[in-house]
Amino acid sequence: MSDLGGLPSIRWSLRGYDDEGNEAWLIRNISQKLYRCPGCHGEIEIGSEHVVVQYVMRVGGTEHHHWHRRCAEELLIPDLIRLKRVPANESSRSKLEARGRRPAGRRRH
Ligand SMILES: [Zn+2]
Repeated sequence: MSDLGGLPSIRWSLRGYDDEGNEAWLIRNISQKLYRCPGCHGEIEIGSEHVVVQYVMRVGGTEHHHWHRRCAEELLIPDLIRLKRVPANESSRSKLEARGRRPAGRRRH
């Protein structure tokens, strides 16, 4: 995992899987409004760098959450498997939502 330090970044996102086989895409983001982090239940201030976790569900569909970077590193990433970096432009919301319109067995990898 040490080679993933500092990611996600502007250039690189991360993709892994949760224990139910859903894809979890971790994407660097700057908040446009106030979010609440599911890790610590604290606020993510407007304008701050943080991590969006976009799930592409195994059965199809997507959902996303905004996390503090440190909370994601401490609480979320340790539970993901097969984590690897992917170019950030592959993790745009439109691409991931399109990906979610197919169940996992019919997606390209
Ligand atoms: Zn947090």
